[in-house]
Amino acid sequence: NSFMELNLSRPLLRACETLGYTKPTPIQAACIPLALTGRDICGSAITGSGKTAAFALPTLERLLFRPKRVSAIRAQETALRLMPDIVVATPGRMIDHLRNTMSVDLDDLAVLILDEADRLLELGFSAEIHELVRLCPKRRQTMLFSATMTEEVDELVKLSLTRPLRLSA
Ligand code: AMP
Repeated sequence: NSFMELNLSRPLLRACETLGYTKPTPIQAACIPLALTGRDICGSAITGSGKTAAFALPTLERLLFRPKRVSAIRAQETALRLMPDIVVATPGRMIDHLRNTMSVDLDDLAVLILDEADRLLELGFSAEIHELVRLCPKRRQTMLFSATMTEEVDELVKLSLTRPLRLSA
């Protein structure tokens, strides 16, 4: 049970070491090798389970083999125009930039991660998430994480994931 067994490349193994991650948490051990195959993932995992690295490490692995200029973060709009590799945003703010500032489009999006899906729905972001999913390319990897699997979360899974592998930790 070590990071070495998860098919991550050396730069990411070194990063885990630097962060003091000596062994993967259960959700990481389950998620990372599967996410690296490109399959959609539906993960049931709470904060503290290590879920962020479970979806971030395989996503970074993809980016390592698609090198592009890395942008420094200035004002959001300027930063988005520099075509960053990764954008972390609330659904509402993302829609705002897509509709109003038009500083970003999702045509080349490769990976969509919906983290804390239950919270997003509780906070009333359902319409925004559905719009975002519609604006993403059909051909993409989607990973959804949620502490609880409610009916509403399951509807979102059906709408936004294709043959997802279901994991829980
Ligand atoms: P998360 O569940 O993603 O919010 O992560 C909770 C905390 O666990 C964060 O502070 C991470 O840095 C830490 N963490 C994640 N994975 C590991 C690991 N494999 N070993 C030790 N700490 C970890």
